[in-house]
Amino acid sequence: MSDTVTRSCPDCGDDREFYTTARTAVHLGEKRKFRCPDCGYVFVRIDGIEAG
Ligand SMILES: [Zn+2]
Repeated sequence: MSDTVTRSCPDCGDDREFYTTARTAVHLGEKRKFRCPDCGYVFVRIDGIEAG
């Protein structure tokens, strides 16, 4: 799995290539934190599902 994911950034209003800033094993799977390179917006995914 890649360390980057392309998705729309709500702050930039356009697609950005988010990069992984943290990766943690949790009981639900793997928790990963992604950051927008332009504005710093962060979102979290647990086992591939966005968790706010
Ligand atoms: Zn952004």
